[in-house]
Amino acid sequence: MNIIIFGPPGAGKGTQAKNLVEKLNSFQVSTGDMLREEIKKDTEIGKKIINSMNEGKFVEDEIVNNLLQKIIFDSNKKNKLIFDGYPRTINQAKNLESLLNKSNQKIDYIFFLNVNKDSIIKRIERRKVLEKRSDDDANTILKRYDTYMSITKPVLDYYSKNHNFHEIDGSMEINDIYQKIEEILKV
Ligand code: ADP
Repeated sequence: MNIIIFGPPGAGKGTQAKNLVEKLNSFQVSTGDMLREEIKKDTEIGKKIINSMNEGKFVEDEIVNNLLQKIIFDSNKKNKLIFDGYPRTINQAKNLESLLNKSNQKIDYIFFLNVNKDSIIKRIERRKVLEKRSDDDANTILKRYDTYMSITKPVLDYYSKNHNFHEIDGSMEINDIYQKIEEILKV
């Protein structure tokens, strides 16, 4: 089973992805985490990535799509993918569809965690203290939210027509959200 967890920054995608990975014995595909790993390697690409991240912009599709390709064609991970933070652009959504087609896979469920702007800002401000991410400062959060609204929202509109699309109130408690997901998946 392949699942997309979709939602604005700070919606709790990573948290729910981790729950599902444990339950379904799957693999989390967090492009944010993958990009942070690239930054640690201190390469030229890493420098490009950190600049985009800290400006609240998306990293170039080409960089992200390349990172993704390896995972989709990894036979150990086939049909065990939990996407968290990908796709975020229409181009990425189309790329994902084409890679999945080529590897005889599909998306089985899409969960949209819907959270309003004020809650997001509060949540990320709290996370800043815990995780010390350089892109979690107040200005960057607002830019990330704007980027989400202008570039990622169209992906949501694109997916919302699918029969396997489910919207969940992401402002609920972590466990309640997870319970809803389990109910839908019947696991
Ligand atoms: P959040 O969902 O809270 O924004 P992430 O860790 O998923 O946190 O992403 C952090 C940053 O990494 C994004 O603001 C963006 O710069 C970059 N990033 C993550 N995923 C993608 C993606 N699919 N395409 C482009 N940039 C991405």
